[in-house]
Amino acid sequence: MDLPGSLLPTPLHELSGELIEKSGIKLYIKRDDLIHPTVSGNKWRKLKYNLLQAGKQNETTLLTFGGAFSNHLFATAAAGNAMGFKTIGIVRGEDYGQNETPTLRFCREQNMSLHFVSRQEYRLRNSEEHLREIAGKFGHPFIIPEGGTSELALQGVGEMVLEVEKQLRKSPDYYAVAAGTGGTAAGILSSGANVLAFSALKGGGFLESDIHDLIKPHGRNGNLSLFTDYHFGGYAKVKPELLEFMDQFKNNYGIQLEQVYTAKMFFGLFDLIRRDFFPRGSIIVAVHTGGLQGLLSGDGR
Ligand SMILES: *Cc1c(COP(=O)(O)O)cnc(C)c1O
Repeated sequence: MDLPGSLLPTPLHELSGELIEKSGIKLYIKRDDLIHPTVSGNKWRKLKYNLLQAGKQNETTLLTFGGAFSNHLFATAAAGNAMGFKTIGIVRGEDYGQNETPTLRFCREQNMSLHFVSRQEYRLRNSEEHLREIAGKFGHPFIIPEGGTSELALQGVGEMVLEVEKQLRKSPDYYAVAAGTGGTAAGILSSGANVLAFSALKGGGFLESDIHDLIKPHGRNGNLSLFTDYHFGGYAKVKPELLEFMDQFKNNYGIQLEQVYTAKMFFGLFDLIRRDFFPRGSIIVAVHTGGLQGLLSGDGR
């Protein structure tokens, strides 16, 4: 199954520079930001097998969850619309009304039907009882969890790992990836590769157990190193230092990052390189998970 207009496999480039050469490592960037202009990188990887499964079950409607800036809602609205599904978005928080976010405006343009719930109700999004209630209320749609993160998502992310192994003709020692729900990190781990996960939110320690729950059913998991100190104040929060880093990265490599996830990951990764975290000869693949459609609105959640 292909998403109309998608670029797959995505390119893998080597990044060079004084720091990288001095540390004796090899660093590559996997350009999943180039998958599609609106269905952001890792969100497509995570959606693919969800949509395939929905198709197999002859489902016509997808229902999922997200905040008013959610890259996942944005991607589900676009992919669902392109592939002939009706979509329903359960949105955390109050209706933004006149001040509707660019993300929600886009979702509506893609014919997603939006339903706003209180933060308390939103918190029940993974409870089975609540999901049964929602299913009844909305005519038994195909439900995709927040962030697209589910068992079906891991398989899609695993395809990214297969692409990299083909492109490098071997497995890297580490993948570096930004983490929100941890689904992308879990998908790589469950392919047997080692992952450095950089939490984009404050208090990201919960990711350790969430990720382990996701990979538990799999046999040959890689090792997870979770970094929780590169959040820059929290989810979608920034500091001048981070924005400067993004500018520098663009000047050095001609590649645009966004401030919510990928800039924090690369900032953390370069910090680890500077601190000699990696043995000489290490091969690292950093995944540009996309999210660039959120850049213009100044917020890509
Ligand atoms: C959603 C998102 C992530 C986080 O992915 P998880 O699988 O939820 O950890 C990382 N980068 C970008 C650009 C995203 O949109």
